[in-house]
Amino acid sequence: MIPVDRHIERILSVVDAPLEPIELALMEAQGTVLAEEAAAPVSLPPFDNSAMDGYAVVTSDVATATSDAPVSLPVVADIAAGDTGAYAIRPGMCARIMTGAPLPGGADAVVPVEWTDGGVAKVRIDRAPKLHNAIRRAGEDVAAGTVVLRPGRTLGAGELGVLASVGRRTVRVHPRPRVVVLSTGAELVDVGKQLATGQIWDSNSYTLTAAASEVGALGYRHGFIGDEPALVLDTLEDLLVRADILITSGGVSMGAHDVVKEVLSRLGTVDFTKVAMQPGMPQGFGVIGEDRTPIFTLPGNPVSAYVSFQLFVRPAIQRMRGLDPRALPTVNARLTHPVRSPQGKRSFLRATLTYGGDGEYRAAPVTRQGSHQLSALAETDALVIVPEEVTELAAGVGVKVLRLPRTP
Ligand code: AMP
Ligand code: MG
Repeated sequence: MIPVDRHIERILSVVDAPLEPIELALMEAQGTVLAEEAAAPVSLPPFDNSAMDGYAVVTSDVATATSDAPVSLPVVADIAAGDTGAYAIRPGMCARIMTGAPLPGGADAVVPVEWTDGGVAKVRIDRAPKLHNAIRRAGEDVAAGTVVLRPGRTLGAGELGVLASVGRRTVRVHPRPRVVVLSTGAELVDVGKQLATGQIWDSNSYTLTAAASEVGALGYRHGFIGDEPALVLDTLEDLLVRADILITSGGVSMGAHDVVKEVLSRLGTVDFTKVAMQPGMPQGFGVIGEDRTPIFTLPGNPVSAYVSFQLFVRPAIQRMRGLDPRALPTVNARLTHPVRSPQGKRSFLRATLTYGGDGEYRAAPVTRQGSHQLSALAETDALVIVPEEVTELAAGVGVKVLRLPRTP
C-alpha cells in the first residue's frame, strides 16, 4: 500500500501543466482562468466627463452664488452622454450636461442640478461649486497601458466586467478540461429502466460527471459499459478524442471480472495500486493514447469513487485549468460521536458540519459509512480525516475535516 499523499504526488508529477491557452469570447470565458496579462489600450475614463446631471461652469463665475444671492447664467449648450460634438464655454456662460457626457472645453466644475432651478435657456445657481466639482478626469480609473488583470485569475463577473471596460471582445484563457466519465460493470442498468435481479442503476457516472463540473471542468458522461474487455478498451480509445482526462469507475479490485485493470495493465502506462485509505483503496492512474491523456480508474463502490475523485482527480483538474492544485479546504472540528478506523489506513468519514455559537465546528459522522451506502452522501458536507495510526476517536475529540464542495 502507498500513502494517500504519495498517490497525489504521482498524479501531479504527470499532470504538471495547464492546458494550452485558447482565445474565447468574453462570455464563453466565464469561470476559466486567464492566460495573459490584460492591459487597458486607452485611459479610462477615456475623456473628462461629468459625474452628475447639472451644469458645466467656470467656477469664478459662480463663486458668490448662495440661495439668497443666486447667480444666473445663459445655457449655451445641452450635452448628453454619448454626444460626440466638440463643445466649449467661455466665462459668463454654462452648458447643461448629463452624467457621463464629455466636459466642454473651458469648464472647470459641474454644478449639480439640485443646486439650481433646472433652467433650459437660462439657469439660476444657488450654490458655489469647488474647483473640479463633479468632474471625472480622463485616466483616473486606469491609465493607458496599465495591466488590469494578470494570468491565473479566474474570470468571474467582476473580471469579465473589467475586461469589457478595457474593450476586450475575446481573451486568452486555459480551456476547461474535458472530463469524460465511463462506468464499467455488467450489473449496471441505465436509470429509467427496470431492474432485474442482480442489477443496480449506474450512479457513479452521474456523481463523477457532476463532481467534475463542480470543480470547473466540462463533465461529459459517456455512461456505462459492461465487463467485456475488448469493448472496454475500444470505448476508451474512442473517447480519447474528446477527453483531456478520462475517468472510469469499477473493475479495479481483485475480482475475476475486473476488466479495467485487466485491459489497462496490458498497456503498461497505467499503474494499479493500493492506497492506504478507506474508502477507496484500489486505485489506478496513468496515461493512455498518443496524447498521453491522464486516466483515473476509480473503484466502483459509489462512496469510494466520490471520495477518490475529491482527493485525486480534483487537484489534477485544477492544475489543467491553470490553478494551483489544492486539497479541499480543511477546518478543525469536534466529533459529536465516537468513530473507528482501520489501523494503517487514512479514513475519510462522511459527516455533517455545523458551526456552533461557541466559535467551534462540530462534525457529526453519518451513521451509514459503508462504501456502498451512497444515500448518506446527500446529507454529507464534510469528510472527517482519521490518521493512519489512529483506530478509535472518542466523542468530543478535535479532528481535521475536509469541506466538500456544495452547490449554492
Ligand atoms: P467494482 O469496483 O467493479 O468491483 O465494484 C464495486 C461495487 O460497486 C460493486 O458492488 C458494484 O456493483 C458497485 N458499482 C460499480 N460501478 C457502479 C456504478 N457505476 N454505480 C453504482 N454502483 C457501482
Ligand atoms: Mg465491477
